[in-house]
This record gives sequence, structure tokens and C-alpha cells, in this order.
Amino acid sequence: MGSLVRPKLVVSSCLTGEKVRYDGRSAEDPVVSKIIPYCDVIKVCPEVSLGLGVPRPKIYLYKVGGRWGVYQPESGRDITKSMVAFARRFIKEIKEVDGFLLKSKSPSCGVSLTKFYSDREGKNLVGISRGIFAREVIKAFPEVPVEDEMRLKDVSRLRKFLFLLFGHAYLKTGKVKSPERLKKILRRVAKRGISFEEFVEEGPSFIPEELILLGMGYGKVHQAT
Ligand code: SF4
Repeated sequence: MGSLVRPKLVVSSCLTGEKVRYDGRSAEDPVVSKIIPYCDVIKVCPEVSLGLGVPRPKIYLYKVGGRWGVYQPESGRDITKSMVAFARRFIKEIKEVDGFLLKSKSPSCGVSLTKFYSDREGKNLVGISRGIFAREVIKAFPEVPVEDEMRLKDVSRLRKFLFLLFGHAYLKTGKVKSPERLKKILRRVAKRGISFEEFVEEGPSFIPEELILLGMGYGKVHQAT
């Protein structure tokens, strides 16, 4: 699939169709499926990488005594330390990356909507937050867009994600006529988002046409005949 730039994108393995979830299923998403063919994808499943297996007993995100962690009640294993260590190793290995697309609601990957509990066994639900792996990623890459598939259902957030993902990759090509101008735009978009008009005006210089249409709100994109 031809495109001007190919961002380096880290994706939760289950979102790419791999059957690695705790219940042995995948979590393919129509928007993620449209984005990944245009990127150089690095897949990651922190729970499988930690040797938890597929299928596996559920783990729960907790906050106890002000500390965040993950616990697997069935095995009695607290896997917080190994999860953090894995995340840091992974981050060190990938070095440069243009964005992350992680799975929502997960105690490991969730950027949003992950349930957390005031006890390690997952009995007393307190609210929603983000998973342990996602926390380390967001800390390590403040400049890079980190999203999950649920948040991208909001089309204005999707536009911002696409613009930052492809914009960062485009800057690295050395082919940008005014890199300082683009850097300035990217900083502003990261802070405040991007309007429909600006997305449509600036985006086509570096975002593939199918994804421009997706960002314009055309969920179903048909091939021209
Ligand atoms: S959400 Fe993350 S840890 Fe869970 S199955 Fe998907 S990739 Fe693996």
C-alpha cells in the first residue's frame, strides 16, 4: 500500500487480530484495521510476554495505599513489578516510535476505561483509570500520540491521532519544506487538537487519502472504480 510516509506504530496484539486475550479471543477493531496497513507495526502483548499464557485467569488493576498494581487472584500472583520491568525493557528496545494504539479497558494496555479496585482481588470497584503498561508508555513518550480504540471512536480525537502520527513520521523523512512550521503545528495540535478544516487542508500532504476520509467521518470507505 503506497504512502508518502510509514509511521512506526506500536499496537496491542489483540487489536491486530491475534487471539491473545485472557479468554483466547482477539479484539479486532474496524478503525484500527484501516490504520495499520499504512504503518510499520510493532505488536505487543505484555501479558503473553510475561508468560501468563492464553487463555489465562484474569488480572485486575488495583490502587492500594496510593500504589497502582496488577494482581491475578486465581494464582495469587502480584505481577506489578514484572509488568513494569517488561514495559521499561520494551520501551528501551523500540527507542524511536511515532505512536501507540493500545487496547482500552485492559489492566495492562488500557489508555482509558480500565476498571480499578481498592483491593487486589478485584472486589471493590472504585472507578476507571489506565493500565500499568500504558502508564509506562505515556510517561516515556510525552511527545508521541498514545490512544486506544475506544477513544478513537470520537472523530475529532481520531483526526488528532492521525495528524500527529503521520506528522511525526513525515518530519523524520527530511523532505518537509518547512520543518519548523510543521513542528510548531504538531506542538499546537498535541495541546489543543485539530479542527476539521485544518485537518483537510494540511493532512493530505502526509496522511494517506483513505485515512483523510476516515478522519472526515467517512467510516466506510469504498475503493474508486
Ligand atoms: S489488551 Fe494488551 S495484554 Fe491484553 S490481550 Fe490485548 S495486547 Fe495482550
